[in-house]
Amino acid sequence: MKKVLALALLAVLCVTSCTRSQGNNSGGLPKIGVAIYKFDDTFMSYTRNAIEKAGKDKARVEVVDSQNAQPIQNDQIDAFLSKQMDAIAVNPVDRTAAAAIINNARAKNTPLVFFNREPLPEDMNSWDRVYYVGAKAEESGTMQGQIVAAYWKSHPEADKNRDGVLQYIMLKGEPGHQDAELRTEYSVKAVQAAGIKVERLAEDTAMWDRPRAVEKMDAFYARFGDRIEVVFCNNDDMALGAIESLRKAGYFSNNKYIPVVGVDATAPALQALAQGTLLGTVLNDAQNQGKATFDLAYALASGAGPDSTDWPLVGGKYIWVPYQKVTKDNYTQFQ
Ligand code: BGC
Ligand code: CA
Repeated sequence: MKKVLALALLAVLCVTSCTRSQGNNSGGLPKIGVAIYKFDDTFMSYTRNAIEKAGKDKARVEVVDSQNAQPIQNDQIDAFLSKQMDAIAVNPVDRTAAAAIINNARAKNTPLVFFNREPLPEDMNSWDRVYYVGAKAEESGTMQGQIVAAYWKSHPEADKNRDGVLQYIMLKGEPGHQDAELRTEYSVKAVQAAGIKVERLAEDTAMWDRPRAVEKMDAFYARFGDRIEVVFCNNDDMALGAIESLRKAGYFSNNKYIPVVGVDATAPALQALAQGTLLGTVLNDAQNQGKATFDLAYALASGAGPDSTDWPLVGGKYIWVPYQKVTKDNYTQFQ
C-alpha cells in the first residue's frame, strides 16, 4: 500500500514538473532574476519586498543590488542570462541604458520586465518581449500641485509677503528620471491651472536622498530665508530632509509653518503627516507595482503569456499602477 502511494506521488510530481518545463527550462519553479538600481533607496526597498512576497512559493526569485552603477548591473544581467533565467525584471540604473540590456536579452530570447525607471519608447518598441510596470509620473506631479493649490486657497496667510504670488523651492530627484522631470513640471502646472501665480526661487537636485535634501534646504534657507512659501519635493525622503532643515530654522513650532509636499507615502512620511509637519504626499504604490512586476515576469517565465495576469496590459506592453493623493484627511488608510 505504501509503495502504491509513493508511486502515485511520484507520478504526480513528474506530471507537474513536466508541464512546468514546457514553460521554462529549469524543470522546477520558474527562475526569475531581479536587478534593483540600488538597495539603499527607501521606495525601492518597499518594491523589492513586494516582489519577493509575491514570488514566494511560486518562483525562484533572485534579487541583486546594482549599487547605482550601470556597468555592475550589465554584468548582473549577463550572469542572469547565462544562468538561463526564464524572465528578468530590471530597475535600470540609467534608463537610457535599456537598449544594450534589451539586445543581450533578445540574443537569449529572455523576456524583460522593466519597472520604476521607464525606458524610452524607441527602446520599449525595439523588441516585442519587453514590458514596463510603473506609474504615470505626470499624475503624481498633478496631485502634489492640487494639494498645494487647495492649501494656498484656504490659507491666505501662506502668502507671507502678500504679493499674490506663490514663491517656491523645488527639490528634484535624479535628473533624467521620468519621475523627477515630470513631477517637477506637472506639480507647478497644476498650481498654475488652479489660477495661482508662481515664482520659482530655486530648484536643485537632491538625488532622491534625505541627507542631501537637508544640505540643499539649509543653503536655500540661508539664501532666501522666510521668502520661501512652499517646498515641492519629488519624493518623501527629500521632503523629510527639507522638514528637518526647516525645523532648525524654527519652523513647525510656535505656529511657524511652511507647506512641504512629497511623493511615495513612506511610513516616515505618514508619521510626518500625523505630526502635522508634512502637508501632503502621493501614494506611489510599491505593493502593487512590485506585485504587478512579479506577476508579469512570472506569466512570461511560465509561458502563460503577458495577457494572463489580472493587470490590464496597455498597448500590449505597459502596466500602470495609479497614484493616490494622501493628506491629513485620509492618511490613516495608508498606514
Ligand atoms: C520614487 C523615489 C525613488 C525612485 C527610484 C521614484 O518613483 O518616488 O522615491 O527614489 O523612484 O527610482
Ligand atoms: Ca508670496
